[in-house]
Amino acid sequence: MKKLLIILLTLGPIVLFTGCISHYCIRGDSPQLDSNLTHFLHQWRDNTTAPIRDGKYTHIYLNGDGSQGKKLALTFDDSPDENNTDKVLDILKFYRIKASFFMIGAPMVDQNITVTKRAFDEGHLVLNHSFTHPHFSKIDKERIVDELNATSHRIENITGKHPLLFRPPYGSINQEVMDTINDQGYTTILWSLDSLDWALQDKDAITENVITHVQNGDIILMHSSRANHASVEALPGIIEQLQSKGYTFLRLDDMLGIKAYR
Ligand SMILES: [Zn+2]
Repeated sequence: MKKLLIILLTLGPIVLFTGCISHYCIRGDSPQLDSNLTHFLHQWRDNTTAPIRDGKYTHIYLNGDGSQGKKLALTFDDSPDENNTDKVLDILKFYRIKASFFMIGAPMVDQNITVTKRAFDEGHLVLNHSFTHPHFSKIDKERIVDELNATSHRIENITGKHPLLFRPPYGSINQEVMDTINDQGYTTILWSLDSLDWALQDKDAITENVITHVQNGDIILMHSSRANHASVEALPGIIEQLQSKGYTFLRLDDMLGIKAYR
């Protein structure tokens, strides 16, 4: 009885705080977020995490192993662009942190080739985030295969490496989409902590959200494209506060113990 009480006292706040079991959770909230958007977001999180918890989706990660200590993976979506991607790379270089970039294939031309190559050369992962950023659950199988192949082809041309990790735009997946992604040999990487930098244009709100919700093993979703000035502004403070709490930052392959490239 005493043991049970201790377990309940230990688990209680975690369950109450996150509203779900921590391994199958996507966290991140802000009082600044519109209530309709919050509702939609929570519905999407429930619908997405339930099949993972039930074992229906395979080769998919929300987070790393929380029992492995204070490790985190910073992930940046939607680059390359001619402005913010370089700024994010400058910040990561300053703090000597390696991160993972889920890049879009279509903008990987002209001067964006340079920044894509830079990310790879500086030790970050350059990974697949589709060619034109569509909702995968709204396009057919052939188009999904084209989106995956065209992007990996460009990444391989620039870096010499064929990525094995994929993040679906908007986290838009269903069973059919997952089957197609798996058939093509990719592992799907979602996230366990949404910085909400895509919705909040306020660096303090983004920082506050990350710092209050962070847990060991989190895969943190951020963005580094043209529209994401607030992410760039928030990033140094987020890194410093997390480092002062004892967290270290790893690339996805190192944190999850999986291969990033073929
Ligand atoms: Zn995206």
